[in-house]
Amino acid sequence: MWNGHHIVALVVAAGRGTRAGEGMPKQYRPLGGVPVLRRTVLAFLRHAAVDAVRVVIHADDRALYETAVGDLPLAPPVIGGASRCESVANGLAASPEAVGGLILIHDAARPFVSSSVIDRCLQALTADAEVAGVVPALAVADSVRRGGAWLGEDVDRAGLLRIQTPQCFRHDALAKAFAQFASVDAHHDFTDDASVALAAGYRVMTVAGDEMNFKLTDAADFDRAEAMLAERLVSRTGLGFDVHAFAEGEALWLAGVQIPHARGLRGHSDADVALHALTDALLGAIGEGDIGSHFPPSDPEWRGAASSLFVEHARSLVEARGGRIDHVDLSIICEQPKIGPHRDAMRQSVAALLRLPLSRVSIKATTTEQLGFTGRGEGIAAQAVATVRIPEEQ
Ligand code: MG
Repeated sequence: MWNGHHIVALVVAAGRGTRAGEGMPKQYRPLGGVPVLRRTVLAFLRHAAVDAVRVVIHADDRALYETAVGDLPLAPPVIGGASRCESVANGLAASPEAVGGLILIHDAARPFVSSSVIDRCLQALTADAEVAGVVPALAVADSVRRGGAWLGEDVDRAGLLRIQTPQCFRHDALAKAFAQFASVDAHHDFTDDASVALAAGYRVMTVAGDEMNFKLTDAADFDRAEAMLAERLVSRTGLGFDVHAFAEGEALWLAGVQIPHARGLRGHSDADVALHALTDALLGAIGEGDIGSHFPPSDPEWRGAASSLFVEHARSLVEARGGRIDHVDLSIICEQPKIGPHRDAMRQSVAALLRLPLSRVSIKATTTEQLGFTGRGEGIAAQAVATVRIPEEQ
């Protein structure tokens, strides 16, 4: 609610745009590990004034929709039409809860809409009963000319505007405008909802848009968006520690490398003490418990398992959160075997498991000066630190 007005957000996601690559419509493509549509929908769900959010989808995209936002408290989706205007018309027809209130129509491919842009639109729309619609708009900073391969005539950029979304309307005005231009053919000439309202004789106001509220169209837009999100990630550090005892007749695995040695380490899995410490460090950085909670030693499935599985699982959990691993640092603590000759192979092994360049993987070794259980050659200890960056709001 905003000043007593009921507010419905209609997110238009029925487009087929696959120019951005990856073979699926761009609004379902992951961005920083999160589908674009999910980011867009959350911007409205999290806005205090918005009462309901509904998505207009393509009939072929039900499964993509369910995967992206099926768990969120949205009004049931509506199937769109052949054009944007037809999709919006379907959305209006299927949103009886919007009658008498305000409706905000937003492109699914604009995930960075800010609450202040939404606020500005709502403020302007409700301040004056004569205003039927409000759109966010930006001035044109570049020189503008007609042309293709060759420059043509100059266009005066003064007074030109780039129109963004959400395009916000009094529902009754927009519904009347769409009813007036109800035929599909008539809709084809309208590139946005404000055009329909203007054609019907309503007055549409502009408020300041936001450069960050850009529309994801091609691969370069996705690159820019990924770079923006990377700047918004926050750093987290996780710590891991593990010990395994030497035993006769076991193979010795350290950091995913089998090392020729008289004795190996005893354990439920392959007892790779270094990868266990690393797994705990990664899990620690994202607050996801420890290796034992994910791979209980009581579960026979993990008997003799390669510990690379545990590291890959932890890495996938970081990625599922939209996070990225910046750096890992491992210390292996033992008198024997000597780690130095195997260090490069271990680094390569860990880098491959984490899909990181070698420069972001450190492997160190130390003895304990013949003190304690490692000094007496009873076992090997390992410590790990992982630095990851994850999105703040998750
Ligand atoms: Mg262990």
